[in-house]
Amino acid sequence: MASKSRYSSTRFHDSSLQEFFSFEEVVLKGLASDGGLFHPDLIPNVRQDYLDWKDLSFSDLAYEVIRRYVDEDEISDSELRDIVHRSYSTFRHEDVVPTIELNKSKNLHLLELFHGPTFAFKDVALQFLGNLFEFFLVRKNKSISPSEIRHHLTVIGATSGDTGSAAIYGLRGKKDVSVFIMFPDGKVSPVQEAQMTTVLDPNVHCLSVQGTFDDCQDFVKAAFGDAEMNRTHHLAAVNSINWARILAQITYYFYSYFTLLKANPDLKPVKFVVPTGNFGDILAGYYASRMGLPVKKLIIATNENDILHRFWQTGTYSKKPTHHPTENPHNGIPEDGSQAHPDGAKETLSPAMDILVSSNFERLLWHLSLEHEFMVNSHVKKETSIRTAGSKIAGWFQDLKTTGKFTVDPEILQNAQETFGTYRVSDKETTEMIRACYRGEAIAKKEYVLDPHSAVGVAASLREIDSSEHDKNIAVVSLATAHPAKFANAVDLALKDEAGFDFDSVLPEQFIGLDKKERKVIKVPANTDLAGIRDLVTKEVEKEKEIRNGA
Ligand SMILES: *Cc1c(COP(=O)(O)O)cnc(C)c1O
Repeated sequence: MASKSRYSSTRFHDSSLQEFFSFEEVVLKGLASDGGLFHPDLIPNVRQDYLDWKDLSFSDLAYEVIRRYVDEDEISDSELRDIVHRSYSTFRHEDVVPTIELNKSKNLHLLELFHGPTFAFKDVALQFLGNLFEFFLVRKNKSISPSEIRHHLTVIGATSGDTGSAAIYGLRGKKDVSVFIMFPDGKVSPVQEAQMTTVLDPNVHCLSVQGTFDDCQDFVKAAFGDAEMNRTHHLAAVNSINWARILAQITYYFYSYFTLLKANPDLKPVKFVVPTGNFGDILAGYYASRMGLPVKKLIIATNENDILHRFWQTGTYSKKPTHHPTENPHNGIPEDGSQAHPDGAKETLSPAMDILVSSNFERLLWHLSLEHEFMVNSHVKKETSIRTAGSKIAGWFQDLKTTGKFTVDPEILQNAQETFGTYRVSDKETTEMIRACYRGEAIAKKEYVLDPHSAVGVAASLREIDSSEHDKNIAVVSLATAHPAKFANAVDLALKDEAGFDFDSVLPEQFIGLDKKERKVIKVPANTDLAGIRDLVTKEVEKEKEIRNGA
């Protein structure tokens, strides 16, 4: 019998509050009101079924995976199939997320996640999230009379790069949804700025803010906390803590595994290596493995912003490194909702991973803490263990806020170490890896151009393969999270002196002439306050309604 898919907050411990939420509530709320993240009450077990999915197309497989987390009485089979199918029909590659072989003798493979509309892996999640938002809004509006005000969603986000363009491409043209993306004027890469501002749909609004990424983030936080704003708008966020984003990412771990299995029927459990920032991508791999996918190990590859790497060494999650103080701190703190910190994150060649704290790590801690409770307090009721785990998580994140760190129980660390490995990769190593791959020194495939984030992953993969515990019969899949053309600086830095290398040769046709296309962007003046932003958002949403009614 199918059990109900329902969700709770990682910080739930007060039984006078709402404990369970539907999928729709979780997607539209984003963050739980106690500050925690939503997690599935039960992780579906597919050990009996998953091999039946081996020959499915990506989109049909994604449907099977997602179906297990969403009740049929919330979204019917045909509706869900339609949402999933539309989300992945925008990808350019027939396999959507192909896995290619980088080196046969090392058994090293690359899962290319950048064939979506904005050439970054965030498309896999945001194409789906955009269609989900629209689906829920359209359904709500079906049951209202023509004289009632339509339900409308106002998505507000801040970006210093990939999230903004992927969100815009996920939401452009969607009914009853407006999207506002703030970015610091002159501080996002030219390609990323062009990608965002050349989308001319009436429901897309790019706000260029005089200031830093932090200032943009502060506006977003202030907007979400503003009573007036919440009275006039139904606000929604698209940052990486939204459960639907994690859910959409579970799919490609299965698909990649099946790609390898089809080539090798004797496939052993696989290692996945994931360039990691906010821990969303690799967390999806954890869910895949908990569902029953044969995963040998999940390997976190970080750049010099290495809070996760340090946690896995010590069991202490601390914003401040104790040994190597951050040189060259800047204030461009992570997109996607992690806390600001006076020291800032370190600026690296892989900017989408420049984070101080990884927001989605809280979800892993929740699952590990609950397991720990079951183990040490096996005689108590499940509800009691859940509340103890929730209260522990709430305490840890309170400590993080006040003291900048917390430490977990040794058994929790040990459990985390059994499932995950970590490597920290420097900028120097990143450029060397881009070069070594291009030259065909590190991998057998010559002239393959990696983006700097994917290079962090391949560097970590090779270190894992060279480690003494590694068994050469185990396949290693490194995740490629962006197309090299998005990060011209780092790629050029690595390859400018290579004979015969021409950056234009990696440029996809979609990027050619992008800088000359018509743009739509609202300049937010330097002295603007929250009231100014509120007026601007309200005015723009009104304008959209006029356009729609006039059309
Ligand atoms: C967002 C991003 C990452 C990090 O993914 P997380 O889910 O935040 O860990 C890595 N590479 C690229 C190119 C990204 O855009």
